[in-house]
Amino acid sequence: MRSLTTMQTPVQADNIIYLTSHQQLTALVEQLSPPFVVLGEGSNVVFVGDYSGTVVVNQLPGVTIIDDNESTVTVLAGAGENWHHFVCQMAAAGYHGLENLALIPGTVGAAPVQNIGAYGVEVCEFIDWVDAFDWVEKKWVKLSADACQFGYRDSLFKQTAQPDRYLITAVAFTLKKTFEPVLTYREVNAWFAEQPPQDGNALLSAIVSIRQAKLPDYRCTPNAGSFFKNPVISGAQYRLLQANYPQIPGFLQPITHAMPENSGTDNSEPNVKIPAAWLIEQIGFKGMVKETGAGVYEKHALILVNTGQATGKAIYDLAQEIRQSVAKTFTINLLPEVRFIGDFGGEFEGEFGRNVG
Ligand SMILES: Cc1cc2nc3c(=O)[nH]c(=O)nc-3n(C[C@H](O)[C@H](O)[C@H](O)COP(=O)(O)OP(=O)(O)OC[C@H]3O[C@@H](n4cnc5c(N)ncnc54)[C@H](O)[C@@H]3O)c2cc1C
Repeated sequence: MRSLTTMQTPVQADNIIYLTSHQQLTALVEQLSPPFVVLGEGSNVVFVGDYSGTVVVNQLPGVTIIDDNESTVTVLAGAGENWHHFVCQMAAAGYHGLENLALIPGTVGAAPVQNIGAYGVEVCEFIDWVDAFDWVEKKWVKLSADACQFGYRDSLFKQTAQPDRYLITAVAFTLKKTFEPVLTYREVNAWFAEQPPQDGNALLSAIVSIRQAKLPDYRCTPNAGSFFKNPVISGAQYRLLQANYPQIPGFLQPITHAMPENSGTDNSEPNVKIPAAWLIEQIGFKGMVKETGAGVYEKHALILVNTGQATGKAIYDLAQEIRQSVAKTFTINLLPEVRFIGDFGGEFEGEFGRNVG
């Protein structure tokens, strides 16, 4: 399965099914039995061990305009469409909103799973509904954006008690016909300091250039993008940390990203999002490469890389080491953004193994 994930760790699965047409779906939902896992392009997963089950590689195609009015267009895209290609298609057609999300690897179907986001935009802002098969209820469902419970790199699809409860087959997006660029993010703002972008293609090209300068190309340096979520802490905890680390960056969070009421944090003042990359850099892991081949990208501390022969277990072990060191230094608990999959065994118990599927 090495080529089915962007981390390219060596791993075997019992079966692999390529889902390439809607005609296959009826037989698939009747015949597929657990354990199974659905993959798009494998850019947000790490297989820690071999997988004793079936891997369904979703390649369902199709992009259809289903509603077109004066100001917006609604587009239904097959879950297996390549995300970046879809974004380019939309920008070229003059349908706006997704430009800031250009060059994010993966498929359309995985975009709602972690509510992909970049440069001041989250995909949930444009999702109307998600078509899926619900393996628990054994029926086809159309989930509204509200039902998807989108949050910061989070959604119903990640929260559900049974991993892989939903097989996403298509996503409907409503995009704008007027171009209202989001330039709030520092690097994007600087790019257009002299002249704002004239159209979606100009913005999209800038995003591609900014990303290419900063992020490793997974085809040359296997990786899974941002490995950890940026932690959100209380304002009080932030002030305490500031006393010891005056340089610690922090971004005030809108109320939608507040901690749950029972979390023990005070919601009367805004929470603060801390760049996980800064924390990892401070503990000295940036650019480090282990003997196993697992490492941290030298230009961006949030990206764990496979420099050659790293196994998924080696990547996991490095992630654990980083997490423990950050917890010890800053009393901040890093949570993985990637999903760990595989036959773990007892040694991976605990919160960090919560993503086990
Ligand atoms: C270099 C790099 C840069 C990245 N930059 C960003 C970024 O800027 N912002 C960001 O948000 N993410 C980023 N990512 C993460 C990743 O690209 C996204 O999470 C992407 O949406 C994953 O798509 P995928 O098809 O590869 O999903 P996979 O990795 O194959 O799967 C991810 C999860 O979604 C589930 N899933 C996939 N398809 C389906 C389906 N059809 N039905 C149900 N469940 C499904 C899987 O089971 C798994 O849990 C980056 C990754 C890399 C390698």
